[in-house]
Amino acid sequence: MSTERVGGYPEVELPDDFGDSTSWQRACDEETRIEPINRAEWMVRVGDGDRHRVVFGTRSGTPVGECDCQGYTYNEWCAHLAAMMLAYVREEIVVADLDADPDEELAMLWRKYRQGGEA
Ligand SMILES: [Zn+2]
Repeated sequence: MSTERVGGYPEVELPDDFGDSTSWQRACDEETRIEPINRAEWMVRVGDGDRHRVVFGTRSGTPVGECDCQGYTYNEWCAHLAAMMLAYVREEIVVADLDADPDEELAMLWRKYRQGGEA
């Protein structure tokens, strides 16, 4: 019924041979730079390549995301997404649950912060 894209980002599907994919190898081997733009968007640079805007988060615990680069457009997989995935599984970044209401999330983070302050 609704065509809204709220929470409608595609699941990040690892290609069958993702471990052998050039994208994954690049993400592993080359220096990556990941900078958050907002709760769902990141600027990602792999090696000496261009910076690309990547949407990355989770939906009910499943990683979802997309990239604006050509590789992603053709393969639904790219070095930038691979870099995000890698950082995510290594717990180097904290990603947002894109299903969560941003206000709720903020309230939750705030409570967490307050609790942290009291500890
Ligand atoms: Zn990309």
